[in-house]
Amino acid sequence: MQENNIIAAISTPAGVGGIAIIRLSGKGCIELTEFVFKPLGNKKLGEQKANTIHFGYIIKDSTVLDEVLISVFKAPHSFTGEDVVEISCHGSVYIQQNILQLLISKGAALAQPGEFTQRAFLNGKMDLSQAESVADLIASSSAATHRLAMNQMRGGFSNKLIELRTELLNFASLIELELDFSEEDVEFANRERLKETAYDIELHIRKLAESFELGNAVKNGIPVAIIGETNAGKSTLLNLLLHEEKAIVSDIHGTTRDVIEDTINIQGLTFRLIDTAGIRDTTDEIESIGIERTFKKIEQANIILWITDVGTADEHIRDLAEKILPAIKNQKLILVFNKVDMISAERKDNKERLLKEEIPDRIFISAKYEQGTNDLESLLVKAANIPEIGEQDIIVTNMRHYAALENALTAIKRVGEGLELHLSGDFLSQDIRECMHYLGEITGQISTDEILGNIFGKFCIGK
Ligand code: GDP
Repeated sequence: MQENNIIAAISTPAGVGGIAIIRLSGKGCIELTEFVFKPLGNKKLGEQKANTIHFGYIIKDSTVLDEVLISVFKAPHSFTGEDVVEISCHGSVYIQQNILQLLISKGAALAQPGEFTQRAFLNGKMDLSQAESVADLIASSSAATHRLAMNQMRGGFSNKLIELRTELLNFASLIELELDFSEEDVEFANRERLKETAYDIELHIRKLAESFELGNAVKNGIPVAIIGETNAGKSTLLNLLLHEEKAIVSDIHGTTRDVIEDTINIQGLTFRLIDTAGIRDTTDEIESIGIERTFKKIEQANIILWITDVGTADEHIRDLAEKILPAIKNQKLILVFNKVDMISAERKDNKERLLKEEIPDRIFISAKYEQGTNDLESLLVKAANIPEIGEQDIIVTNMRHYAALENALTAIKRVGEGLELHLSGDFLSQDIRECMHYLGEITGQISTDEILGNIFGKFCIGK
């Protein structure tokens, strides 16, 4: 299906670049471009073959606005499934804006956010989860997030969902067939086999839902809370890891009052660093809130970096450990002795033994003089414990997909339970259909304008 209205937008980032690309899509967009384009040769753009590139001039008020290259794609073999034109012009903002205005004056409409990808979805070029992965791919900033988005775009997840939906459909048909013959009290489907099918589907859905923990950590960054007494050097370390001045560094105890979050890339993984107010008994109201937040952040993090000043008395460090250790549940705790530049080798040896059993992962660094930070980064990667993600791995990264999978899981569990309880076919069939509905929400087989608006509205214009 080709939309009648032609859309146009600048598809490269705002601002000046070497070149910029203006994209058009919709029936007639090739002919529309002819109004503003003078090719070098005699052949009109509309007469050119699909998937070809043409040199020529954009003409405004009878003068040449720019020399450009135009790529022509024809429906249905294009990104959107419609006729598409891509104008590669010089990257001046003036040129970009003028070409866009010219196209609009000739009848193109300015594309809505994500409208190109939305059209690709509506024209069946990709399903909804693949369309969403386009946004993820564009936003990917590390090897791991790139891999996840690429896997999803290539359709592994979609195929798995189609497989599950087909199985559910067969399942529902069997049961519904029985309903047609309900007067005769027949059982076409072997109940034990049905139970096995239900559990098998449940297992697959659960595996997908469970992969979200990994997918979310990789996509949004593995949360790392930086905690420790005030003045231990948390802000200095944070700035060093971030390679910028973000947190306020000062000698005054309790300066880091607000929780600061930022992400860094280490060896292809994204970490979300959370700096927190120091742990210190305090009467200062604002700081007390900060301390409470420290414990909240411990809860939210996967990895805790406990920074301590290596010069602090052992007794005091043990006291702090008594506060910190009970708050640690499944998180990885790394004890970081900072300011190692201030102590002798012998004192370092003594510290090495401190709390060794309680906290086996430890490291000596100097945040100020940038010693030991490479080892700390390696320790973080090890603690993150992210498995290598292969091309075939299906890992859920999207909250919307996760929520739908959880709903599907609840429905399929009810089917299993219903079979155990010998419930009648109409109840079973209703739950199977519900499970299918939720899986269909992910791929877009079931979608509403509201869902689509929510998804594509988050894209930028031109995507
Ligand atoms: P925070 O309160 O834990 O965030 O501590 P800051 O990062 O603000 O650091 C407190 C003070 O310790 C500052 O004066 C830093 O310059 C200093 N400092 C931080 N790291 C080191 C280090 O490795 N060696 C030395 N000698 N001083 C440090």
